[in-house]
Amino acid sequence: MSSIAPNTHTLPSYLPAHELGPWGTYLQQVDRVTPYLGSLSRWVETLKRPKRILIVDIPIQMDNGTIAHFEGYRVQHNTSRGPGKGGVRFHQDVTLSEVMALSAWMSVKNAGVNLPFGGAKGGIRVDPRQLSRGELERITRRYTSEIGVIIGPTKDIPAPDVNTDERVMAWMMDTYSMNEGSTATGVVTGKPIALGGSLGRREATGRGVFTVGIEAAQRIGLDITGARLAVQGFGNVGAVSAQLFVEAGAHLVAVQDHTDTLYNPAGLDVAALQAHVKAHGGVAGFTGAERITPAQFWEVDCDILIPAALEQQITEENAPKIRAKLIIEGANGPTTPQADDILAERHILVVPDVIANAGGVTVSYFEWVQDFSSFFWSEDEINARLVKVMRDAFSHIWQTAQIHKVSLRTATFIVACTRILQSRELRGLYP
Ligand code: GLU
Repeated sequence: MSSIAPNTHTLPSYLPAHELGPWGTYLQQVDRVTPYLGSLSRWVETLKRPKRILIVDIPIQMDNGTIAHFEGYRVQHNTSRGPGKGGVRFHQDVTLSEVMALSAWMSVKNAGVNLPFGGAKGGIRVDPRQLSRGELERITRRYTSEIGVIIGPTKDIPAPDVNTDERVMAWMMDTYSMNEGSTATGVVTGKPIALGGSLGRREATGRGVFTVGIEAAQRIGLDITGARLAVQGFGNVGAVSAQLFVEAGAHLVAVQDHTDTLYNPAGLDVAALQAHVKAHGGVAGFTGAERITPAQFWEVDCDILIPAALEQQITEENAPKIRAKLIIEGANGPTTPQADDILAERHILVVPDVIANAGGVTVSYFEWVQDFSSFFWSEDEINARLVKVMRDAFSHIWQTAQIHKVSLRTATFIVACTRILQSRELRGLYP
């Protein structure tokens, strides 16, 4: 299908056309799904405008006594199906366009796996590697306090994302609870187990990537035993998915992160690599593989490619060179619409972010339910429920793709946007 330019009439005034970034990608994805929405398409404009955007100033005292100001965001894209839900990202390149797109992809993701949530996302424009532990805590607490007016266990529930983890979630939960005057464990998910976190949450995104990866591989006749895997990003998502694929008989032949790109056609030792990354903060310096250039990563001879880092990594430049048969998007928004078209023409199957990485928010939902009922489930039960949710969602989306002869991304958007807009229509407009 050809690319459709986003309808510029719908651009909000606070986002100039030349700064569209990932939000522009999202708008093109919505334009592609609109012909499949039938009478619900009269509501489609709803999907092109976030419900609520909050931009906050975060002043903190640095360890050297100076005062530094950081920019923070929380965007609630849609709440037609339930409270806002989505992570918080700490990264020096975070922009409003990015957080808007990430919040919209959460709406699609949550509806795609049928969780009773809307979509939201937050971020702070900061490089957390430059902060001390104390500075990180202060920036987290002030940000939480500033967005405290719009978050809450029944309003909008943050979670970890790039460069945020259980420790950050513990500070967010504590700050919100202190301001409320009572402990509110359900305000964030991805918390430490001791604070109402869920077993299996840390591995959930990677486990979901693996689960849908197996489903997709079966459908295209790709044998996991001996399959060669390339992974971009070796954080929580990349490392766990690599480990599960290797346990299932695949070989990790290439890995790239913000520190280096490594290649070993005989297969890297995933456990040793995980230990190295834990000790050194990245894959750089790991022995047992040769170094290749960042551009060469995309040309590596492999069967499965998992982008598990940031947006807009697979572009019209590298898409023609990719040799994988299957791409599973662990990251949010790693493929541009132009690259999507090239990959489709080349018959490379893309399992899109909005289903592939939905395992994380699915176990976040389980965590939220457990917090509300104050009754906690076993890890086996959580993993079994996760696998069922992912498999059911994948097969529904696969069938939708077959029926309409569209990509899995457009199929996920058809399923998700139909659910969102049905809720929108049933609720009606207020007043
Ligand atoms: N940040 C994750 C995502 O992009 C998880 C969000 C959540 O658990 O709410 O899906």
